[in-house]
Amino acid sequence: GCGICVKKCPFKAISIVNLPDELEKMLVHRYGKNGFKLYGLPIPREGKILGVIGKNGAGKSTALRILAGELRPNLGRVEDKPPEWDEVVRQFRGTELQNYFRMLAEGKIRAAHKIQYVDMVPRRVRGKLSTLLEKADERGIWKELVKELNLSHLLDRDIRQLSGGELQRFLVAAVLSKDANLYLFDEPSSYLDIRERIRVARVIRRYVPSGSYVVVVEHDIAMLDYLSDHVVVMYGEPGVYGIASKPYGVRTGINHFLKGYLPAENMRIRSEPIKYTISFTQQQEVQQTRRYIGWSRLVVRLDGFTLEAEPGELHEGEVLGVVGPNGIGKTTFVRTLAGELEPAEGNIDKPEGQLRISYKPQYVNPENLGGDATVEQLLREANPSTLSPGSWLNVEIVRRLRVDRLLDRRIAELSGGELQKVAVAVALAREADIYLLDEPSAYLDVEERLSVAKAIRRLTEARGAAAIIVEHDIAVQDYIASRILVFTGTPGSHGKASKPLPLPEGMNLFLRELGITIRKDPETGRPRINKEDSFLDRMQKRLGKYYYIP
Ligand code: ADP
Ligand code: ADP
Ligand code: MG
Ligand code: MG
Repeated sequence: GCGICVKKCPFKAISIVNLPDELEKMLVHRYGKNGFKLYGLPIPREGKILGVIGKNGAGKSTALRILAGELRPNLGRVEDKPPEWDEVVRQFRGTELQNYFRMLAEGKIRAAHKIQYVDMVPRRVRGKLSTLLEKADERGIWKELVKELNLSHLLDRDIRQLSGGELQRFLVAAVLSKDANLYLFDEPSSYLDIRERIRVARVIRRYVPSGSYVVVVEHDIAMLDYLSDHVVVMYGEPGVYGIASKPYGVRTGINHFLKGYLPAENMRIRSEPIKYTISFTQQQEVQQTRRYIGWSRLVVRLDGFTLEAEPGELHEGEVLGVVGPNGIGKTTFVRTLAGELEPAEGNIDKPEGQLRISYKPQYVNPENLGGDATVEQLLREANPSTLSPGSWLNVEIVRRLRVDRLLDRRIAELSGGELQKVAVAVALAREADIYLLDEPSAYLDVEERLSVAKAIRRLTEARGAAAIIVEHDIAVQDYIASRILVFTGTPGSHGKASKPLPLPEGMNLFLRELGITIRKDPETGRPRINKEDSFLDRMQKRLGKYYYIP
């Protein structure tokens, strides 16, 4: 069931009649004979920021390459010679696409493009940050951007020494310093903590030249919501075809996406809605179940970094969220619980018998996971039941995460997102008492993030296990965590972990630390970041309700 079939569509797409014909006219590009097809494009509007949301493999990055003029649309003609611009322009007569393609054809679009996989850049570009930024700069603003994006201390570094988050901020600065009229940001939140995400969002807003076109592809819905003026949903069958929706208002567009139905196209894009809890009664129930793992006050010393954690404990069925800036010791804490690091002070208290821990490290690399093995071998080893059709693990994890399509692939050949999904699936498939997942949503799309979240919740309940999830996406934390650990301190030098706090209380502490207020959308329950200094922002700050549930 893909949404295109006329008959017996399990997604119950409604306005299917005549759609195929209409749709074929909107075919913009096809990769090869049996390759992916892209219908329509998210068309930016002058002076506005267009947010793009949708599944991985729905053609978002392809759409950006076409908008930038890096990829000439072939209208699906893969056999004969690709059509000239004239023909492309004619094909879309009377649509918004026509104007856009005309501008491209006439060379009126000057694009600056922040690509999705920032890790690729150091392989192609060499040199010191200050040299690279100065060279890229066409607007005389690179020094200002360095300050705004907190890059000052990195100017003498070689690009190859940057962490993922530093690289991301560097590229945002380089792109904004270009004298362009189209600015494209493909997944700018990857590797960034919440403070950095908001900083990047504000800098993009402030520094794109007025009257330019801006498109942002983003899976962090709170950030997308905060940044965009309009939203386009890309839907379809991942890897097979993708369709760009009409533009929607930000709030309604994201809500339609979560509910799984697009009214303007009369199209169901998902069989069930994604729902956040609006009230916290469910999560506030104090868990009086068996204590699983506890820790006394812990001190962990690394070369140049110290982590101090207040005592805490985990209960059966509980999901503990971990939040805090980069470099504050979240991974150090998780590795200590996993037994990879020895605390200098304090101890971890495990109940009688051997505690089984399943750990998904932050950085997954193919070698550690088993580069030569196939995905199927790895899953079988973790838990054979993942491979029996219809079993809970098979349906809720393997199929929901679309890992079933990767079974024959070797680990070494997977893309970043595929690798992440396999690593998460393997970690969840193992029988364990505690699941430690360090940044499981990196590279995953919204639905995959929420599928992972849902699977973790159900798993911990069904198996009577507990989970600890390090996660920067506040919508995901909000969805999954029953209590949270808040990390504060000085990144790179010392970190402090709070005791586990109830979600509203922990979020309040965390947001106060960040100086950000959040309200919950009354319709879907998703968290929305208040615009700085808006009425709600000021009111919530005055009341000390940084995390507001209407
Ligand atoms: P998204 O950014 O939404 O995840 P992409 O635009 O990267 O999606 O990819 C959409 C589909 O097109 C995927 O199935 C991908 O494998 C395929 N694809 C992307 N680039 C190419 C290419 N250069 N040649 C062939 N297929 C490609
Ligand atoms: P987070 O997960 O919150 O981003 P980490 O726990 O990875 O933070 O790192 C905290 C600090 O400890 C960082 O400054 C990091 O560079 C440093 N660090 C991490 N691992 C080691 C190590 N093995 N030796 C020395 N320093 C380390
Ligand atoms: Mg992409
Ligand atoms: Mg970490």
